[in-house]
Amino acid sequence: MSRNKKVLEWADFPADFVKFKLNPTRAHLETKELAPGVYALLSSIPGVDNAGFVVGDRGVLVIDAHISVPMARQIQERVREVTDKPIVYLVNSNYHGDHTFGNCAFPPETLVVQHRRTAELVPYMDEEMAFMIPCVDGDSKIFEGVELRLPDIVFADWLRLDLGGRIVEVHHFGPANTPGDTITYVPEAKVAWTGNMTGGIFGLALESNAATFLATVSRFVNALDVETLVPAHMPLAGADLLGRYLLYFTEVTIAVRAAVAAGWPLEETLEKVPQSEMFSLPADDPRAGFMRGRHRYNVQKTYLAFSGK
Ligand SMILES: [Zn+2]
Repeated sequence: MSRNKKVLEWADFPADFVKFKLNPTRAHLETKELAPGVYALLSSIPGVDNAGFVVGDRGVLVIDAHISVPMARQIQERVREVTDKPIVYLVNSNYHGDHTFGNCAFPPETLVVQHRRTAELVPYMDEEMAFMIPCVDGDSKIFEGVELRLPDIVFADWLRLDLGGRIVEVHHFGPANTPGDTITYVPEAKVAWTGNMTGGIFGLALESNAATFLATVSRFVNALDVETLVPAHMPLAGADLLGRYLLYFTEVTIAVRAAVAAGWPLEETLEKVPQSEMFSLPADDPRAGFMRGRHRYNVQKTYLAFSGK
């Protein structure tokens, strides 16, 4: 691991970690109205980014810019099918390229909103693009036209944005999947865009660890009254998903803490900290191995954090 490492590098991942599939080629974003003025944009290809937008009297707020210029344009086409009001705000739910590379394709008058940890990492765009290449089947043409666009508004804890008759809140509850995970919340609709924080039957502590993820989700569920989650990489979900995440990360936190206290080496910990039945897919499910790799990744990140290695 290089000393000036800022974004992820595949060399640091365990061999059984299946890379993300984010190729947007032929992806269609379907508009789904969740409440008056509140729209999810759901990708036709599983795993490829969802997005969304909220319409008020004065303008529109978009959640996430997608991975490429054509996908960012498609988001704006979907907005234009609903309203001709200006896109006032664009919120990035984290710094990863699949959420930010499309920023440059939004009009100059759109204000880009990022958490300060996201804003610190977005400038490492070349490194992030190198990391993303295997996730788009090696097709570097997908990133044609992508240019670095810096944020206009950087926040630390939360923001309250008034679109005119419609309030949108932007919250950071702590690191989870990334350092700057951002929740975009519409209080009157009880809808929250959760970015990469929600990603399957349990979360992926990609750039944190189980204890940190647990604390972040705890703050989230205590602070906001949510009924509908719009995850970036899985279908719409109910708030009960967050309850499952609390349970899962509690299990991993307790088990890995005990393993470190007992002096187990990493390999033994990876073998012995089980993925409990509740958080395992049936063995004949094609994604069972994929999720096992995710669990082992969470265990490893947590072990390294607890053991100070
Ligand atoms: Zn993502």
